[in-house]
Amino acid sequence: MNNQPQENASNGVASSIASEPTIVNRTSIFQKANESKFSVFCLSEKKTLNKKKYDSIDRLKADAFALYKDEQFDDDNAILTYFDENNSETLLTSVPKPQKNGQHKYIFIRFVHPWCAMCAKPFGIIDDQLLLECPRTSCSQQYCKKCVDTIRGPSPEHPFVCSSCKKNVIPERNPLIERYLLWKKFSKLYGVENIQNLNSNSKLATCQTVLNDINTRRLHLQQWVNTFQKKTENNQPIEDSDQQLISNAMELIVKVDEIGKELKDIKSVMKYHSTTVNDCLEIYKKVMKKFGIICEMLTKCMEAIETGTEIMNIDIFGDRNGTIRDEYRMEDLAKLSSANSIAAIDDILLDISFRNRHLLSKYELCKSLLKNKPQLAISFDSYLQKAKEILHTMATIQEKLNILRGNLRAVSRCIDKYDACLRDENLTDIACSKFIILLEKLRRKTEYIEMKTHFPQLIGLREKWQKSYGIGDQFKPKVIDLFQAVDNDLKNMFENETYIYSLPYRIGIIGEGSVGKTALMIELANIDKNIFSTVHIDRSTFNYLQFDTYTYRHPQSNKIVPISFIDLQGATDVKDSESIGSYLELISTVDCDLYLIAFDKPFSEHNRCCLEHIQSTLRRKYILVRTQTDKLFSEFIKKSKNEQRQDSIDDYDSKSALSDTREHVSIASDRESIFCKIYLTAAGCDDKLKDSPLFTFDLENLKKKFVRLAVKDTRIERTFKMAFSAATTTINTCFRRGYIVSSTRYQWAAAVCSIVPFLDELPAFFGRDKIRDAFGINSNSTATNTPNNTTISIKNYLIGKNFTVSKRHLKSGHFEYLWPSKKQQAMVNGTKDPNRHFQISEKCNSEYKSLMSENTKACIGHAAYTAVGQATMVLGAIGNSLDDIIRISVPTSAAGLRAASIAGIVIGAVMTPAFALWAFYSTGKRMNEHLHLLCDDLIIVAAHFLAAIIYNNHMNITRSSEILSFEQAFLETDEYSSDEE
Ligand SMILES: [Zn+2]
Ligand SMILES: [Zn+2]
Repeated sequence: MNNQPQENASNGVASSIASEPTIVNRTSIFQKANESKFSVFCLSEKKTLNKKKYDSIDRLKADAFALYKDEQFDDDNAILTYFDENNSETLLTSVPKPQKNGQHKYIFIRFVHPWCAMCAKPFGIIDDQLLLECPRTSCSQQYCKKCVDTIRGPSPEHPFVCSSCKKNVIPERNPLIERYLLWKKFSKLYGVENIQNLNSNSKLATCQTVLNDINTRRLHLQQWVNTFQKKTENNQPIEDSDQQLISNAMELIVKVDEIGKELKDIKSVMKYHSTTVNDCLEIYKKVMKKFGIICEMLTKCMEAIETGTEIMNIDIFGDRNGTIRDEYRMEDLAKLSSANSIAAIDDILLDISFRNRHLLSKYELCKSLLKNKPQLAISFDSYLQKAKEILHTMATIQEKLNILRGNLRAVSRCIDKYDACLRDENLTDIACSKFIILLEKLRRKTEYIEMKTHFPQLIGLREKWQKSYGIGDQFKPKVIDLFQAVDNDLKNMFENETYIYSLPYRIGIIGEGSVGKTALMIELANIDKNIFSTVHIDRSTFNYLQFDTYTYRHPQSNKIVPISFIDLQGATDVKDSESIGSYLELISTVDCDLYLIAFDKPFSEHNRCCLEHIQSTLRRKYILVRTQTDKLFSEFIKKSKNEQRQDSIDDYDSKSALSDTREHVSIASDRESIFCKIYLTAAGCDDKLKDSPLFTFDLENLKKKFVRLAVKDTRIERTFKMAFSAATTTINTCFRRGYIVSSTRYQWAAAVCSIVPFLDELPAFFGRDKIRDAFGINSNSTATNTPNNTTISIKNYLIGKNFTVSKRHLKSGHFEYLWPSKKQQAMVNGTKDPNRHFQISEKCNSEYKSLMSENTKACIGHAAYTAVGQATMVLGAIGNSLDDIIRISVPTSAAGLRAASIAGIVIGAVMTPAFALWAFYSTGKRMNEHLHLLCDDLIIVAAHFLAAIIYNNHMNITRSSEILSFEQAFLETDEYSSDEE
């Protein structure tokens, strides 16, 4: 402690001898070495790591992460960095040396926030999704590229004010975050380790392994191009960028094809020669056993020839055995590796050339000596003959190995070429980057077009607003337009049940790795097997594949009912024991109406986890499918044949075998019985068997079931999620972000007049009314952008939709008219459990009641139809989604962020963007509070609004229709099934 002032005092004098540390200085450095001090930054937060000596980076990392334990950082989701002497950010790989001046060493925790701080959308590796950071290291707030670009304008002409530190900055990409966090995630998803393994062990077998990898990746590209192309064709004139994307993908396919062909040629050449290193080595070792003896004999021969004597004693080497072993390197033979690699071949070739040289020189010498004494030739002939034989074998092996070496070289050149063409020009240090970027683009664009097809008005409005917000009073986005657009979109979607022909029924196939999901999907989606064939390999799906099928038809109208099949990667495909959590996340992301849980061994704990997730969290339906039943079935057939000693499979046998099979699969791995129906399939079985009715099992029934479900399922859960997600994105990107654009401009004008209202003071500056006016949520604001030109106030419009929102969820004070009356509140509380938030007003309730009774009357003919049950189901599904939305809207702690991001995937939206929450936790002050309160309220109102309209649309369909309930279609037994008695 006393050192400090002394140092300071002597500073001026000592500056000339600064290089010579005094004893005092030395001890202080020594002490500091023991007690490094760290300041650990995480976004705008700074915490101090208490004095402690670190001997490993892992300990330091663990302690640094523990400072922010609410964030649950680990090696997978966070990295430690520091700034080196050139002030460039570097990954921290060892414990840094203590600072000379005793100051704290600054280290930074970098991680990928679940969402962009402004629009609350997740980050990715392409285009708009790129992660940009506030360049101020003590802030580092994260924004997506889209938000930054929008605010800065096309030129870019506008300033960007960081929401967190409130400085005028230009956010930048962080290569460390991209490389070590974002790309890591995507590399795992797209099986990059497969390619890396190809390079590290170039065994002969890899020829096929590489071909498999090529085939899989090629099919992925082709399939996404097909799906994307179909979508763009149906939609609009194809944009240039889309066309470019398709041709880029096609180009890569062609390149990969060429490499595949080249490899196939090499493979057939190799097959022709059909040697392995092991074969050669075995012969070589066998022949070389005598190498030392032969050499020694030749030496003796030479002596004998020169002296003109005969070899007296063959067994003269007894005492020279050790010398022979060393001199002729006989022990090296055992060390040679039989691996099919170029390195192993080179070792053997080296050994051959050593022995060849040795033997040949002796052999030649003997021969030349004998030339002068031809009379001796006969007595030495047998020795020379032996040497010649060995030399010949060596030459043959050498030749074989050289050919093999050439082929292996060619294979490894192909692998290099393959690896190179999968890399993006700008990201050559990241394996497979081009492939991943292409697939991500195709996938995301397909998603976007789908969204646009289903919500054309809403997305059209969003695109218009995003291009130009207008400033101040001219702020264009208006709330009523948003609500009307989504209302119209939903009305059009559900009109006359057209949704069953326009909104594809989405079926996801999930399960553990290599249970034959892809084969099953090819069968179900009626895909031409010549175009899309799978080889049996470790991993055939990366992320997921989408197949849109137009081969299923409505049983009555015969019109095509589109069904989309989603083939998810297997749960165990990613080797380093991915947690079940991330698989469930993937299941949630693909968002299907129905999930097929495929399994080829007894129903496992993992399968049960997925089932429960689908049922209780996602609230979607599932069907169990036992794949590769043929093997099991054959076993039972064999058994019954043995028991009855019959030669042919008669009806009785197959029937009893089938029921045995059914009984067998209905027992889970934990010996519990499974009570729901299990469909037996054998999609991957032999093509010859497939035609026999025995081996189709339940496949046709399963297909029929799909049609029935696709026709009867109103897809409301998914529709609600899609609509809500589209509305939320519009609110976050147009209102939340748009308002910042407008006010930022205003702010800059104001700054000139030296009134500097930074973002969190903006509400005070503009006043609540200003924001309200700008958004058009004044009670008497009217629609301006809608095509039908009706003038209706937002208040009357919303009230007209008959829904209420509980007081405690609305914070901005702008939507008081949506509060339930006391009477309504009492009714809701009386009829439902207090946690249910989907509130239906009295008027609404009675209307539903009359609707139900009407429904019941209309459906009297269908004995099993229960309108009340149906309504409860619908209400339950949407009501539960509302619960989720409200639950994640205000996380109770920062730990809630992570949980909320997962919940966000499930329900399709997140509330208040990250920075507002973060700032709230770190400083206790919410940024730009009123704007966020208002936007959060908008999201809550939108959720209730959508629930009400979708419910109404749903009731309209089910009331007027011939169609039975979906639930019933789901539970009913298959009328055509042969096996059910
Ligand atoms: Zn953003
Ligand atoms: Zn900042």
